[in-house]
Amino acid sequence: MNDHDLFEHITRAVGPDLVGGRVAQYIPALAAVDPGRFGLAIADADGRRAPRGTGDWRVPFSIQSLSKVFTLALVLAADGEALWSRVGKEPSGAPFNSLAQLEREHGIPRNPFVNAGALVVTDRLLTLTGDARGALREFLRAESGNPGVDFDATVATCESLHGHRNAALAHLLADHGRLDNPVNDVLEHYFWQCSLAMDCRDLALASGFLARHGLRADTGRLLTRSEAKRVNAVMLIGGTYDAAGEFAHRVGLPAKSGVGGGIIAVIPGRCTICTWGPALDGHGNSTAGITALDTLTTLTGWSIF
Ligand code: GLN
Repeated sequence: MNDHDLFEHITRAVGPDLVGGRVAQYIPALAAVDPGRFGLAIADADGRRAPRGTGDWRVPFSIQSLSKVFTLALVLAADGEALWSRVGKEPSGAPFNSLAQLEREHGIPRNPFVNAGALVVTDRLLTLTGDARGALREFLRAESGNPGVDFDATVATCESLHGHRNAALAHLLADHGRLDNPVNDVLEHYFWQCSLAMDCRDLALASGFLARHGLRADTGRLLTRSEAKRVNAVMLIGGTYDAAGEFAHRVGLPAKSGVGGGIIAVIPGRCTICTWGPALDGHGNSTAGITALDTLTTLTGWSIF
């Protein structure tokens, strides 16, 4: 099937989903986004063809938890496997912002993609670089080839004002001795990393190292083959939180979602895909994005299984 037909099928399939979920409410700056938006981009791993896409694929949106994949990769690149003594690699089976699970498990987050795990990763990145959010922005600009990638100060400030649950998670982590930096510094870097605004094209390009077994856009090595495999594996078991099983069942790809409505998905050796549809299901995953990726893997047969 050619790209044009594929995009048509996908766009038709996601139609009902654009009205079937709710835009994230707990971050007021996100609640104002139009739920009718939909975009999808595909970037080939070998970079031979230009990235292609459909719908609102060039409209920037709030990357939110998509940022967690990149901070994880940067920490693994700088620090290797040491991170896995601070954070687990198991499915959470609980909401992404669960306090109860973190307390029960003595401050060791289930995986790097629940909020507590991402706070631990940001804390490490802050120690390793002195500027976690700056290191992330620099990496995303380089990999996407877009020097205009930047933070959205309104979203960052809004999240900082309303982020009581994240603050509670960070304090709980600190109480268990799991953070090296002051709680407020870690939270600040975390809120700003989530506020980065990017479009589907730039995100598909920026995730390319995961489809290239760890190689960056300029072919320099970011991760070892084995580390890249691990990031993809953790995306499969935890990238869509307590719906990771259902997502694997429907889509069959490693993926990461964000409450801005983005999902990035990886087909190792072939390509990376980014979808955007702001309406979310009860787990915080984009309803349109899941349907789009389900349709894509069904029509193309491009699943890892
Ligand atoms: N910034 C959001 C939060 O911390 C990210 C959550 C998400 O995208 N799932 O709550």
